[in-house]
Amino acid sequence: MDFPFEPYRIKVVEKIQRVSREERLRLLTEAGHNVFKVPSTAIYVDLLTDSGTGAMSDLQWAALMTGDEAYACSRSFADFESTIRDIFGYRHVIPTHQGRAAEGLLFAVAVKPGQVVPNNIHFDTTRANVEHVGGIALDCIDDAGLDPALEAPFKGDMSLKKLAHAFEKYGVARIPFVMLTITNNSGGGQPVSMANAKAVSAFCRERGVPLIFDACRFAENAWFIQQREPGYRETAIKDICREMFALGDGCTMSAKKDALVNIGGFLCLNDDTWAQGATNLLILREGFPTYGGLAGRDLAAVAQGLREVLDPDYLAYRIGQVARLGTRLDEHGVPFVRPTGGHAVYLDASRMLPHLPQSQFPAQVVTAALYLIGGVRAVEIGSLMFEHRDPDTGKLVPPAMELVRLAVPRRVYTHTQLDYVASVCAEVMALGERLRGLEITWEPPTLRHFTAKLRPIGGGPLLREA
Ligand SMILES: *Cc1c(COP(=O)(O)O)cnc(C)c1O
Repeated sequence: MDFPFEPYRIKVVEKIQRVSREERLRLLTEAGHNVFKVPSTAIYVDLLTDSGTGAMSDLQWAALMTGDEAYACSRSFADFESTIRDIFGYRHVIPTHQGRAAEGLLFAVAVKPGQVVPNNIHFDTTRANVEHVGGIALDCIDDAGLDPALEAPFKGDMSLKKLAHAFEKYGVARIPFVMLTITNNSGGGQPVSMANAKAVSAFCRERGVPLIFDACRFAENAWFIQQREPGYRETAIKDICREMFALGDGCTMSAKKDALVNIGGFLCLNDDTWAQGATNLLILREGFPTYGGLAGRDLAAVAQGLREVLDPDYLAYRIGQVARLGTRLDEHGVPFVRPTGGHAVYLDASRMLPHLPQSQFPAQVVTAALYLIGGVRAVEIGSLMFEHRDPDTGKLVPPAMELVRLAVPRRVYTHTQLDYVASVCAEVMALGERLRGLEITWEPPTLRHFTAKLRPIGGGPLLREA
């Protein structure tokens, strides 16, 4: 595979700092080995998330200047709404300040306590929002998506068998809708095929149950379909998106991903009653229905970003850059989820540090060590984030995989900076048994990975003396 070069030139730059190893050790210890709490000024390459961390284009910055700040029915909202309708095709477009606000509105109006929401894999905020209203968040990913070593084109696909089993077990009355996350963030940023979306859609329609997309990375997903799924090579990205969304009844969206902005989101729905309920809540929590917690200029930047993200040159470069990072890791022998995803590479922490059991948070150990060794910030997607109670047995269940996500911000880092990241990963892996396991010293009741504090088991340093 060749890796297309950047289809842009750089107009504005931001200086980044390298702080000393001693300083990093001090900051890491102070942060309770949780890199969410390390100041960004002390981070060299920040791959914590691709959410809201992208660089906007000159046209987006221009849109910020020309945004219409009218409270009601602004020109910027009209642009936002028509651009979204054009791509997504749903009747109601409800602006929110980010993705989880869209989730919160949807689940508040459509999920009752005890009801079950199947998804390929719920993203962490999605799961937390379902559980917040008393619902059960059920993952129905195809087994292929749980095998980190398997090379397959569409490892985000939902298992129709698991979905059917959920309907048998809980009954259709307990399932208000089904969700499909494109691309599947928590399962490695892997795409969902059009064939799978069609099958899930047909299954849902037969039972009269709506299908809602978690559409955060819809353009990246469409690019994978164009490149990998038979029959789509000549289909335009936008047409693939339209075909996909026509299979569903609405979507939640974090504009901080594929709308190429730093803040924003929306909820789209075809159902008038749900849309009315969500709009009532929107007014209560977010703002008037034509701005929903955003400034007019933000809406304008989202509209422009949505037009830009469909550019095939952008997508080829974007996904190529992530694939290139995978190639560099391969050269160093660092294991990761195969193939690389659209927005991130997911290191396989269990194989990088095989001496650590899941109970000692191997993925969090790798995350902490990446910062200590190279000033690189990644995010743990393992037991710290996803350990949960089984709704039937009440027992704690560890997640299937211990992953560390290297999320690549859009249009921000150069190939050279990502080469550096690959070499830091190799250095961490080479430390092997010198890295000790972690234990939690404090955790909040929900979404604990954001704020939990940890320490090396029994105290002492993370890295043993050689
Ligand atoms: C980021 C994300 C969300 C939540 O969006 P926020 O804008 O961070 O609130 C939901 N689902 C998926 C798949 C995401 O990646």
